[in-house]
Amino acid sequence: TRWVYSFGGGGADGDASMKNLLGGKGANLAEMSSLGLPVPPGFTITTECCTHYYANDRQYPADLKAQVEQGLAKVEELTGKTFGDPKNPLLVSVRSGARASMPGMMDTVLNLGLNDQTVEGLAALAGDRRFAFDSYRRFIQMYSNVVLGLDHHMFEEILDEHKERLDVTVDTGLAAEDWERVVADYKAQVENELGQPFPQDPHAQLWGAIGAVFASWMNDRAKFYRRMHDIPESWGTAVNVQSMVFGNMGETSATGVAFTRNPSTGENRLYGEFLINAQGEDVVAGIRTPQALTRAAREEMGEKAPSMEEALPEVFVQFKDVVERLERHYRDMQDIEFTVERGRLYMLQTRNGKRTAKAALKVAVDLASEGLITEEEAVMRVEPASLDQLLHPTIDPASPRDVIATGLPASPGAATGKIVFDADTAEKLGGAGEAVILVREETSPEDIRGMDAARGIVTARGGMTSHAAVVARGMGRPCVSGAGELRIDGKSGELYARGRTFKEGDVISIDGSTGEVLAGVVKMIEPELSGDFATLMGWADKVRRLKVRANAETALDAKTARQFGAEGIGLCRTEHMFFDPARIAAVREMILADDEAGRRQALEKILPMQRDDFVQLFEIMEGLPVTIRLLDPPLHEFLPHTEEDVAAVAQATGLDAAKLLRRAKELHEVNPMLGHRGCRLGVAYPEIYEIQVQAIIEAALEVAASGKAAPCPEIMHPLVAKGEEMAFLRRLTDRIAEKVMADKGRRIDYQVGTMIELPRAAIRADDLAQHAEFFSFGTNDLTQTTFGISRDDSGRFLGAYIDKGIFEKDPFVSLDQEGVGDLIRIAAERGRKARPGVKLGICGEHGGDPASIAFCEDAGLDYVSCSPYRVPIARLAAAQAAI
Ligand code: PEP
Ligand code: MG
Repeated sequence: TRWVYSFGGGGADGDASMKNLLGGKGANLAEMSSLGLPVPPGFTITTECCTHYYANDRQYPADLKAQVEQGLAKVEELTGKTFGDPKNPLLVSVRSGARASMPGMMDTVLNLGLNDQTVEGLAALAGDRRFAFDSYRRFIQMYSNVVLGLDHHMFEEILDEHKERLDVTVDTGLAAEDWERVVADYKAQVENELGQPFPQDPHAQLWGAIGAVFASWMNDRAKFYRRMHDIPESWGTAVNVQSMVFGNMGETSATGVAFTRNPSTGENRLYGEFLINAQGEDVVAGIRTPQALTRAAREEMGEKAPSMEEALPEVFVQFKDVVERLERHYRDMQDIEFTVERGRLYMLQTRNGKRTAKAALKVAVDLASEGLITEEEAVMRVEPASLDQLLHPTIDPASPRDVIATGLPASPGAATGKIVFDADTAEKLGGAGEAVILVREETSPEDIRGMDAARGIVTARGGMTSHAAVVARGMGRPCVSGAGELRIDGKSGELYARGRTFKEGDVISIDGSTGEVLAGVVKMIEPELSGDFATLMGWADKVRRLKVRANAETALDAKTARQFGAEGIGLCRTEHMFFDPARIAAVREMILADDEAGRRQALEKILPMQRDDFVQLFEIMEGLPVTIRLLDPPLHEFLPHTEEDVAAVAQATGLDAAKLLRRAKELHEVNPMLGHRGCRLGVAYPEIYEIQVQAIIEAALEVAASGKAAPCPEIMHPLVAKGEEMAFLRRLTDRIAEKVMADKGRRIDYQVGTMIELPRAAIRADDLAQHAEFFSFGTNDLTQTTFGISRDDSGRFLGAYIDKGIFEKDPFVSLDQEGVGDLIRIAAERGRKARPGVKLGICGEHGGDPASIAFCEDAGLDYVSCSPYRVPIARLAAAQAAI
C-alpha cells in the first residue's frame, strides 16, 4: 500500500480531489504545488495509515518507515538540505489534516529536527544566533507538550524567571546568549521530569511527532468536535510533514492569514492580517496586534502599523497574484495561510473559507455574476438551513451574551422583551405595543393569541414538535422550547435560572437559533430579503421540480407565505381558527351540546365566521391551491380545565358551570392522541364536518362570483385509516358541496383528499385512493404513530437516544427515511396504482427540513408544505435536490 504522497518543486503525487486520502490540507498542498505555486516541499501520510494504526492496536504498517524515509529524501533533494545535518539542517513541521477541517483540535509540531548540533547550523545559515536559539526553545516547548505530554506552563515559568532576571518584559528583549540559557534550562527541566534527556535524534523526533498527531485524532477535543459536526471517527487524519520556512527571520520575513473575500459580509476584497518577523502561532496567539494586508484596509481601520502592501510591496504584488489565481482555480472564496521568509513568499495552506450565511449568499451570487461558476453551482453553494439566519432578526455576534438557560432551538430568530407568564397578559401588553416574551411551562392551543402577541416564546418543557415549537415556527416567532433549567413560579410571578431570580416585567432575550435564553437586551441585526437573496432564489426556482406550499391559517401567515414565494397553502389547520375569543364560546357550546340538534345550533353560529376565514385566505392566495383540513384535535382541547377557568367560561357564556365541568370530565381521554380526534370527529358528529365543508364551498363561490381568481379548494380529512372511512367522508363532502352549489346555482372545482398519518393508511393507500384525489403526508403524526413515540413527550428521552447514537437526528425534525420514509414510498406507489396522477404532498414539519425535502424529491412527491418562514429554505433545498 502507498502510505506517503510527496509534494513540492512544482509537482505532486496527489491533487485536490484526494481529500479523503490526503486530508484537506494535504490535498490542497499537492494541488498548489502542481499549479507551480511556491509551496515548501513535504509529504503527506494518508488517512488510511491512521485508520490502519487504530485498527492494529496503534501499530504502523510495516512498510511505512521506508516510505517516510523516501519522502524525506525527496524533500532533502528539493531543498538541498539534510535532516540532522549539523551544517545545513532540514527542519520540518508536522501537522494534522483531516478530510473536514477541525481547526485547532489536533496537534502540530514546528521546527522539528533541531538539536544541540543542528541549532548551530541553523544559526550559521541564518547568520542569526538569536533566531536559531529562539526557534530551538520554541521547538523544545512544543514537542515536550505535544509529544512528551509535559505541561507548557512549566516552560513559561522558566522563561518568566529569565525575563525577571534580565529585567525585560517582552521576548524580543532576550539576546542570543539569553535564549541559549533558556534552552539549557528547558532541557534540564525535561530530563528532570522524565528522567531522560530531550530527544536529540531528528528521526526519533519525527516518529514521536507523527505518533502524537495520529494520537490526537482521539483526544477529547477532537472527539467532541467530531460529534458536534457529524464527522465520522473512521475518517482518520492525515499527517503532513513539510520543510520549515521562517516568518521570523527579521524584518523582511512575515506570516499571515488571508481570505480572498470578506468571510462575514462576502465583500469582494482581500481580507486578512499578518505579522512581520513572526511565526504562524504568533498571529493566532494574539500577543501582538496583527497588521492589515492592504493599504485601504489599514486606512479604514485607522491603523498606524504599515500594511503588507506598504511594508513588503514586491512580495505583496506576487501574493495578490497567487491569491487571485487560487480563487479562480478553486472557483470559491479561499482561506489562505502564508509565510514570507526573507522576502520570499511561501504558501502553507488554502481551503474553501468558512463564511456566514450572508457572505455565502453574496459570494455565490458574485461568483456566478463574474462567470466563475454557473447559476446552478451558485444554488448548490448556499446551505438552505442557513437562510434562517437571513430571514429573521439575529443577535449581533459582537453583542455580549449573558446566558441564563439553554433549551432547544425550536424556532429561529431572536427577540427581546419583558417576561410575562400567561397568554392573556402577553396579549394585553403585546396588543398595547409592548415587547414581551411569553415564558410558560408549556403552551396549549388556548395560548395562541398570547403567543402571537409576544415577540418570542420560551417553554420549560416540550420538544421540537411540541405545540409551542410548531406554532412559533408557523408564526415566525422565535422560540426556545424545553429549557429545563428554568423554574417558573406563575403564582409569585418569578422565574429562577442558574441561581438567579427574574420577575414578571424583567427584560430577557432569546436566541431561537441556538436555544439560548439571555438576561437583558442584546443588539440585533435586521433581515434583508431583496438583492442577492432574491437573485439566488430566482435561480433556485428555475431548477426545482417540487412545488413549495405553506402551512398557514391566518391572513398574516398567508401573506407572509406568498411574500416568501409559496405556491399555495398545503395545510390550513382549521382548529386554530376556533380559538378566536369571538367564536370560542360558540365552539364550547357545540362541544357541550347533548345532541345533534344542539350541536347544529352552535355550528350555525360558527359557519359565517368560518366562511369569512376562507374568503380571506382564498383572496390572498389568488387562485393558488388551498388545502383546508377539517377539524382534527380531540374536542376536550377546546374546553376549560381548571375550576377557575370553568367559572370564567360559565360567566362569559351563561352556561351552567357544573354542567360544563361534568362534560369536560366526560370528554377526558386516557390517550387523546389516539382517541376521539381527526376524522373520527367527522364520523361521530358529521354535522361538524358538514358545516366546515359548507363554509369552504360557500366561500369559494363567493370569491369566484366577485370576479377574483377562482379559488382552488382542496378539502382534506385528517387521521384516516380505512378505505371505508374515506368513502364515508367523500360522500359527506360531495353531498354538502353539491347541495351548496345547487343552492347558489353556481359551480366550483374542488378536490377531496386525505392526510396519511397512520401506518395503516400508508399500507392501504390504494383503498384510500379509490376515494381520495390527493394525499398529504402528515409526517408529524406518521412519525408518532410509526415509532409509537409521543410527539409531545419525546423531548424527555430522545436526547438520551441521540447521545447514545441510536437516533442520529430527532425523527420529528428530520424524516426517518428508512421507516417512515418506506411507508411514504409504499403509500405513493399503491396510491398511484389505484389512482394514476393522485396528487402527493407532505405537510408535517419535515416539509421544511432540507434532508427530508431531498427525500421527497426522490420519492417523487408533487409538493412540500412548511411554515411560511421556511418557504425560502424549502425552495432552495428543493432546487438542490433536483440538481
Ligand atoms: C401532521 O401530523 O404531520 C400534521 C401536519 O398534522 P398536525 O401537526 O396538525 O397533527
Ligand atoms: Mg396530524
